[in-house]
Amino acid sequence: MSASHNIKADPETLDFHAFSHGLYIDGQWRASHDGGRIDVVDPSTEAVIAAVPDATLEDGALAVEAAARAAESWRATPPRKRSEILRRCFELMVERSETLATLISLENGKALRDARGEVAYAAEFFRWNAEEAVRITGEFGTSPSGANRIVVDYQPIGICVLITPWNFPAAMATRKIAPALAAGCTVILKPASETPLTAYALAALYEEAGVPPGVVNVVTTSKPGVVTAAMLSDPRVRKLSFTGSTGVGRTLLGEAAKHVISCSMELGGNAPFIVFDDADLEAALDGAMIAKMRNAGEACTAANRLYVQSGIYDAFAEGLTRRMNGLRVGAGADAATECGPMITRKAVDKIDRLVKDAVSRGARVLCGGTITAQKGFFYPPTVLSDVPTTAEMAKEEIFGPVAPLSRFEDEAEVIARANNTEYGLAAYIYTADLARGMRVASKVEAGMIALNRGLLSDPAAPFGGVKQSGLGREGGQHHGIAEFMEAKYIAATI
Ligand code: NAP
Repeated sequence: MSASHNIKADPETLDFHAFSHGLYIDGQWRASHDGGRIDVVDPSTEAVIAAVPDATLEDGALAVEAAARAAESWRATPPRKRSEILRRCFELMVERSETLATLISLENGKALRDARGEVAYAAEFFRWNAEEAVRITGEFGTSPSGANRIVVDYQPIGICVLITPWNFPAAMATRKIAPALAAGCTVILKPASETPLTAYALAALYEEAGVPPGVVNVVTTSKPGVVTAAMLSDPRVRKLSFTGSTGVGRTLLGEAAKHVISCSMELGGNAPFIVFDDADLEAALDGAMIAKMRNAGEACTAANRLYVQSGIYDAFAEGLTRRMNGLRVGAGADAATECGPMITRKAVDKIDRLVKDAVSRGARVLCGGTITAQKGFFYPPTVLSDVPTTAEMAKEEIFGPVAPLSRFEDEAEVIARANNTEYGLAAYIYTADLARGMRVASKVEAGMIALNRGLLSDPAAPFGGVKQSGLGREGGQHHGIAEFMEAKYIAATI
């Protein structure tokens, strides 16, 4: 059964039932073992728009069984064939992009323009990995003693459990599924409970593209801890790839350690956005709006601390406030919206707490800062000035449309402040001096640096963090696919 046929990209007529048939296991749509369901809420209206099955331990075990049954024939499928299936996934995603974007906006709340950007980005992982699937090579050498040859073969790592967050329901899934399939692995995806519909819509699309039953399985559950722990305890599972918060990542690393399972971890961030006096002001403001407001601030790469040198500080603060004030806030699926709601009421409360904390420590509100919406999980675009280093938001991810500004005087000071965090995912640097840009980029502790740019995600580049922002990389030439392969060394006398 294909759940993505005849679906219109109109929020009024979108048939949610088509995306919530059941758990997707072994190419079948099934109810959960105990019939439980999870409600899906539109954050723009707080209305329940659908309900998806709530998987039990038994359902998780069935998904592992299905992935294990499909493993041998998938790894034996010629790379060219795997590549063509992945390419078809890309093409179908592009064809269905408007429907997928609308679905993302409805269940996640993000502005339609951000959702369209996400679908394009998510689809690219299929195109990129379709190209990578046929370029997997090994190594061949001679041992230093000359006694034997060293043959290194790269093999699929085995069954993979993939766990993804709600903030990019399509892209975080395809960034894992596409390289895993390209490498020859079968997978079980556990998407976030807030945004399961996109994951199921994509599962139907993979089937249509020719992904065989059992190669991709999707299970939603309100008991992620126990259900995924049980999956990880199955000795056939050899890989855990997780994107989400650092706290949950730590728990999962502990769980994986019990069975010595390979882990890739894409965790939280606390990105500094550094603007030097010599920066092009308009370019820095454009970049700040993207780095801060893409996804309404709900991005792991979001600028979380904006450090602006004193000579340009006032002009930057004034320009940013004008732009943030001009944003149209509204329902995600409304095409005019530039800033949608947050994912949950809890997320709004957290942002509110962080803003109140910063203000109580001396920060000044230049715009926003007060919740006014009656319905929907909205927080207004907010700019705070002179945010002290002691503010909680200097340490914690804000994950919302709040831009905290602080002044700095010199390069050494701003590098030290940028590095004063347990995180190390992304950092942004604006300067007209390329030598300084490169120097600061080499000293800032982050896995990814955007130099005079507000956006760095690219399927062709290795995405990932240092420190407590993660382990491993996704995307990039061989980096992403390597996470799903293992080297096998064969000593041969030829
Ligand atoms: P989260 O609370 O850590 O949840 C992420 C996923 O883990 C969800 O599917 C969740 O399921 C599941 N989960 C929760 N507890 C679990 C447990 N004990 N065992 C197994 N799975 C568990 O994160 P989030 O709030 O969804 O996402 C926001 C976070 O993700 C932020 O910290 C953000 O920076 C990070 N992120 C990082 C990247 C990156 O590439 N580095 C990209 C995007 C987001 P339920 O939904 O059912 O709870």
